[in-house]
Amino acid sequence: MGNGEWGMGDGEWVVGSGEGEMGSGGMVMGDGDFRVRLSSRAKHVRLKVLPPGRVEVVVPRGFDQRQLPALLARHEEWLARTVEKVSSEYGGTQTQIVPPDSVELAALGRRHRVEYRRQGGSPRCALLRDGTLRVQHGGESDWRDALRRWLANQGREHLPSWLKRVSEEVGLPYRKVTIRSQKTRWGSCSARKNISLNCGLLFFSPQVVRYLFIHELCHTVHMNHSRRFWGLVERLEPDYRKLDQQLKLAARNLPAWARRD
Ligand SMILES: [Zn+2]
Repeated sequence: MGNGEWGMGDGEWVVGSGEGEMGSGGMVMGDGDFRVRLSSRAKHVRLKVLPPGRVEVVVPRGFDQRQLPALLARHEEWLARTVEKVSSEYGGTQTQIVPPDSVELAALGRRHRVEYRRQGGSPRCALLRDGTLRVQHGGESDWRDALRRWLANQGREHLPSWLKRVSEEVGLPYRKVTIRSQKTRWGSCSARKNISLNCGLLFFSPQVVRYLFIHELCHTVHMNHSRRFWGLVERLEPDYRKLDQQLKLAARNLPAWARRD
């Protein structure tokens, strides 16, 4: 175990300042209903509750797994509370996914009224001249595919050039950027300096998106969350603590239709 303090993220306990940026490893079933994931990049043990209410323990390589039952027992109360919260939120979003009447891409300062039109062919979106987003769809739920595809396209259209501007501004180059629609990660940076960004970032404020860019760009220098890493982040974004908190809470602001199941 690390010597950092336990802190609470969204459905997650973290020891120290780790974040979901580790390679995947093997997994072992525990005797309770939890999954253990070995991570070569994790520095600390992390407890996570993932939808629909599954507990995942991320452990650094070399961690003595015999310690796990005691560790889980120590956090039993938090786990029970969080499993309940996550599963009820999950159940909630499952039943409440309704076609939205508007879509707000706060990062771009844009809000679109949405109209729906039933017609044949593959589901798609068209942005009308007056700013209305028209969703053309054929079936009951494929409006959602159309909207999500549109969101991914918006991400590909706007995020790479924005990242490039910030990269040039702070003087931290990267190699390549990929836009994804991952479930839980907002961004990542590989050892080869390839950055991956989540198109869901478009729902967040420009300040939060810019912070995420700076965070990932600083990983091109420090591939960890060391003191030196945070020192560099702070030099480039003095408000980083507040923005990091906002980013962690941001998942709640994601519209249900845009979430990955
Ligand atoms: Zn990071």
